[in-house]
Amino acid sequence: MDPGPTKARARRCHHCGNEVSETVHTQLDYRVGFYELHTGEVEVVTRLIHGNESEVTFLKLVRPEYIVTCPSCYARPEILAERDRLFRPEDN
Ligand SMILES: [Zn+2]
Repeated sequence: MDPGPTKARARRCHHCGNEVSETVHTQLDYRVGFYELHTGEVEVVTRLIHGNESEVTFLKLVRPEYIVTCPSCYARPEILAERDRLFRPEDN
C-alpha cells in the first residue's frame, strides 16, 4: 500500500541507523519499537525571582535533541552509557 506523500519521515536509530517502528501492543504482550531520549545542549541560567530576594539557578535547554535507540542497540552496555551521558549533558 502506498502511504502517499503525507507519510512522515522514517525514524532511525541514532546509533546504528536502522529504521525503527512504533511499539506494538497486543492483548497479552507488547514489542518495543524504539526508546526515545529527550536531551540537548543546556546552559546554566541564574535569575532573580520578581518579588523575591533569592536567586534561582536552573538549566535551560537551548538546543533540544531527540535520541532514538532501537531495541538491539538498547541492549548494548556502551549504548546505555552513551544515553546516560546524553541524559545529563551538564555533567559532560
Ligand atoms: Zn540501533
